Amino acid sequence: MTLPFSLDLPQPDDWHLHLRDGAMMRAVLPATAAVFGRAVVMPNLKPPVVCTADAVAYRDRILKALPSGMDFKPLMTAYLTETTDPDDLERGYRDGVLFAAKLYPAGATTNSDAGVRSMEAIAPLLDRLQSIGMPLLCHTEVADPAVDFFDREKVFIDRVAAPLHRSHPELKLVLEHLSTAYAADYVRSEGRKGFLAATLTAHHMALSRNALFDSGLHPHLFCLPVLKREEDRQAIVRAATSGEPMFFAGTDSAPHRARPRKPRAPMAVSLPPRWPLPFMPKSLTAQVLWTSCRPSSRSTALPLRLARERQDAYARESASLARILYLGTDGGGR
Ligand SMILES: [Zn+2]
Repeated sequence: MTLPFSLDLPQPDDWHLHLRDGAMMRAVLPATAAVFGRAVVMPNLKPPVVCTADAVAYRDRILKALPSGMDFKPLMTAYLTETTDPDDLERGYRDGVLFAAKLYPAGATTNSDAGVRSMEAIAPLLDRLQSIGMPLLCHTEVADPAVDFFDREKVFIDRVAAPLHRSHPELKLVLEHLSTAYAADYVRSEGRKGFLAATLTAHHMALSRNALFDSGLHPHLFCLPVLKREEDRQAIVRAATSGEPMFFAGTDSAPHRARPRKPRAPMAVSLPPRWPLPFMPKSLTAQVLWTSCRPSSRSTALPLRLARERQDAYARESASLARILYLGTDGGGR
């Protein structure tokens, strides 16, 4: 069969990745390195990567675990705590060890207990990040148990991200793994000046919470942020296919143990980072997202700009991807 056109797919980068450590890292790293040229590596190990020295040691362990012949560059992040030293962050950034800082509201997700409880407590850190141009990546959910689970992303934007963006308008702020139309609209409206952006995952494009509850509860589709309404899923697809430069891809691939030690622990396992590339042409929606990763200074820019009616069509069609994408996997990471 002759195709009516050809499409060159440059090697993408993954702007949100969990590699963990030890045997788990060695198990998943080759799958990422086989597809992606670089990845922003999350610091929520136990204990977390909180300073430049930790990041150097973790980077060295990653590179040592890389199978020979594979070309892959980990971009390291530092886990912010209320005792993080701004001078150490700045040194790590200027030396090229640290790519970004990561904000975990304490208790919001895996290994976030050492995260930030009060934004006032890290005010000097935020000032420093803005002054040196170091990006701040945010887990975009509050951890407040009084807030409904499905509203935690919206409340994070209202309580944390929007005030922070107002007080630090030139801080490079990335809201991670958007899951709602509300968040996509916020980033779109505020991101035009180039200081606010967001990552999108394939699972938030492929699945809505209908899949979570379809004919019973499916715990392996549990992820954070939790899946939202069908209209939210379609809004994420539209953002991904809009060509707008404030949206880019982060897999949030995050290996978990298949059998958690604690019975109540989340059962989410890993989202294989390998799957995005072979999905052509039926899952063009997922495919094109992965090739539209703007931040790379290398070759990943293949901006996808679909006309609005095509965006809508892809958003609707992609609902049928859910069963395909999750066949044989256990759902989203966090
Ligand atoms: Zn994550």
